[in-house]
Amino acid sequence: MDIQNLLDDIVASVQPLLGQGEVADYIPQLASVNAKQFGISVAMRSGEVYSSGDADVPFSIQSISKVFALALVLARDGDSIWKRVFREPSGNPFNSLVQLESEDGIPRNPFINAGALVVADRLLSVTGHPASAVRELLRQESGNPRIDADADVAASELLHSHRNTSLAHFLASYGNLENPVEEVLEAYVKQCALAMSCTDLALAGRFLAANGARADGTPLLSRSQTKRINAVMLTCGTYDAAGEFAYRVGLPGKSGVGGGIVAVVPEHCTISVWSPGLGRSGNSLAGVAALDEFTTRTGLSIF
Ligand code: GLN
Repeated sequence: MDIQNLLDDIVASVQPLLGQGEVADYIPQLASVNAKQFGISVAMRSGEVYSSGDADVPFSIQSISKVFALALVLARDGDSIWKRVFREPSGNPFNSLVQLESEDGIPRNPFINAGALVVADRLLSVTGHPASAVRELLRQESGNPRIDADADVAASELLHSHRNTSLAHFLASYGNLENPVEEVLEAYVKQCALAMSCTDLALAGRFLAANGARADGTPLLSRSQTKRINAVMLTCGTYDAAGEFAYRVGLPGKSGVGGGIVAVVPEHCTISVWSPGLGRSGNSLAGVAALDEFTTRTGLSIF
């Protein structure tokens, strides 16, 4: 199969979807993005990259950063994080508070906001600068030293972070934060505000398709840790739409409210898509459709 032709076809077929859905506006800075953009990139395990559409336009990766933060915590700190966060799909929106009380301050999984705050907290304890640690990982794996956080997006989110502030205080009330709430929130929004293109993202995620091996061949994660991250991405990476995503796409994937999604074909490649219009659960509408078409036409899925 000619991957470049396929990606060009996908760009053509998603055109009617562009501009549909809602651009995230609870972070005001994200609302100003042109919703009609769409990009797609595929990075083969070997490092070859295929791209089409707006694949080189940087976008706010938001919750996609949660995968990289979790990878760093597992790499540096091992399995102890699983005492502080479960691995079950939540069936609730990504910023929901409801299960935290009934489950004694242990978030359902590391990809909803509550769980990601716990991971950011641990990364803060382990590295001192979680957003810089995530940024360095992304730079090294993508080979793009210009990847950085968008300070305006971070400031905009921090000014409107009542929900995440509540989650963090709730976690703290159960003794599930090691650092002050304000420091954890700042680290978390900076990590979410990292901006990169589809091409960068597909390259940066390659260790997930390569049994944990980094771009330079050294291990970031073990084979087993990588399997486990991919499993949590499959079951929890797209929140309360994880079942629908598995049904349509059939791959581990992680979305963000900036409209990006990274998906993993273990042993083979990573695929990243970006389009700002979101569906009800906060996943890119055109992005999910594009991944559906990619796996349907190539047969590349884990099922
Ligand atoms: N920074 C965003 C938030 O905390 C990330 C959410 C997302 O991408 N789903 O609300």
